[in-house]
Amino acid sequence: MKKLVRNNYRVEVYPPDPWSRGESDEDKHKTYLQAIRKLAEEIKRHCDIGNLSVTYDTAEVCSFCSSLWESPPACCEQAVDEGS
Ligand SMILES: [Zn+2]
Repeated sequence: MKKLVRNNYRVEVYPPDPWSRGESDEDKHKTYLQAIRKLAEEIKRHCDIGNLSVTYDTAEVCSFCSSLWESPPACCEQAVDEGS
C-alpha cells in the first residue's frame, strides 16, 4: 500500500520575472540572482515583499519500506504480496 508523505515545508518568495524583458540567458540569470539577493535582504529587514506563498513537497512511498512508490510495487515482499 502506498502512503502520502509531506515534507520540505518552506516559504517561497518569487522575484520579478526577467524573461519578459527580452534579455539573453546570462543576463536573465544575473537579473534573477540580483532580484533574489535583494529579496533576501528585504526579508532580513522584515519588509513587505509580496508574492509570498507557503508550500511543501509530496511523494508517494511504500507504507512498508518507505521506498518511492512504483506501480506495480516491487520494492519489498510485503508490497508485492499485497498487490497479488
Ligand atoms: Zn516497500
